[in-house]
Amino acid sequence: MRVLCAWCVRDGKPAFLREKLPLDDLSETHGLCADHFTSLSASVKQVVTPKVWLLSRLNDLSWGLTRWVQRQMGRLLFLS
Ligand SMILES: [Zn+2]
Repeated sequence: MRVLCAWCVRDGKPAFLREKLPLDDLSETHGLCADHFTSLSASVKQVVTPKVWLLSRLNDLSWGLTRWVQRQMGRLLFLS
């Protein structure tokens, strides 16, 4: 999976962050690049706590889960 910075996508900038397992799945998921993560935490004028970081990780995870469910559904429909 390709992880893109959601804010860079919005700004029309190169948004590719990193690859994520499964590598043969070329669908996209969203995260924040270091720059936008910093500016986001600055804009809310608070130190990024481990909890905030964890929430962003959970969001990432739920995206992955959604993709997985979509893929399984697709497979199921294909077989039936
Ligand atoms: Zn970004």
